Amino acid sequence: MKNLTLNLALLVAAFAPAAERQIVVAHRGASGYLPEHTLEAKAMAHAQGADFIEQDVVLTKDDVPVVLHDIHVDTVSDVAQRYPDRVRGDGRFYALDFTLAELRTLCFTERFNHKTGKPVYPKRFPLWKGDFRIATLEEDLELIAGLNHSTGRTAGVYPEIKQPKWHRDQGHDISSIVLPILRKHGYATKNDLCWVQCFEWAEVQRIRNELKWEGRLLQLLGNGKAKDGTDHDYFKTAEGIKHAAQVVDGMGPEIGAILKPDGSVTDFVAVAHQNKLQVHPYTLRVDQLPKGYDNVQAAMNALFGKAQVDGLFSDFPDVAVRYLDRASH
Ligand code: CA
Repeated sequence: MKNLTLNLALLVAAFAPAAERQIVVAHRGASGYLPEHTLEAKAMAHAQGADFIEQDVVLTKDDVPVVLHDIHVDTVSDVAQRYPDRVRGDGRFYALDFTLAELRTLCFTERFNHKTGKPVYPKRFPLWKGDFRIATLEEDLELIAGLNHSTGRTAGVYPEIKQPKWHRDQGHDISSIVLPILRKHGYATKNDLCWVQCFEWAEVQRIRNELKWEGRLLQLLGNGKAKDGTDHDYFKTAEGIKHAAQVVDGMGPEIGAILKPDGSVTDFVAVAHQNKLQVHPYTLRVDQLPKGYDNVQAAMNALFGKAQVDGLFSDFPDVAVRYLDRASH
């Protein structure tokens, strides 16, 4: 009997979740169902039980932070038809070339290829249907705070500071504008449900040290060496992870840095946990599964179970929330 009790205790320990409950981050809102980053997509993500809801943030010409995934505005709006003469030499339209008032006149829609006009995810919300508009960072934060109040369920926020080096090269300092807005809305310390994320290591350090951000901070990881100087592959090594842990609270790699196509997992999460870092990989999509996986449940088993990630970005927050709810019962 004693042995059985001991074995049960070991079993429970083996399946115990990471320190905090594993979280679901609604990637660009419930973007699998509604055009990304619209307030409608945020409301749906909240209703689906997402623990955190993401805001990608870029600046307008008049330095207002707006919620958009790209510095370009031509893959999610009718800008090319409405302001054809505002195109830059590279054929692209930039949010930074428009005032907030101008951006508010645009119709927003499901993401499409700006060259072909075809939707990126054909099974998602139909192109050019409905009436969707841009939201400022403050409007997005107010919506989530309002839903937290009216539903009694608190979802956190997960702002990403997009391309700070590019913004600065254009004469705009995005981080120094965004952080005070977060503080004003009650997001300031690690007790507050807010993760600030960024791909650029120099800026991540600046956010912590120079701009004195005392809240949770996450280093996003892509591949190779980026134009801003961040060596993403270095931050996937044990040495790089240890280095990052001096500044950040978590790492956000691609799912491919954790799940291998043969069904095994890398030691990225284990090494991060040794350094007391959380790991929130991106992006789980039911219509674009990780390499080597033919169903979303198997991918979630590998991420939440085998690899023990602390959180997961998903375009389909309901799918990941249901999975975790079932796992906890
Ligand atoms: Ca993002």
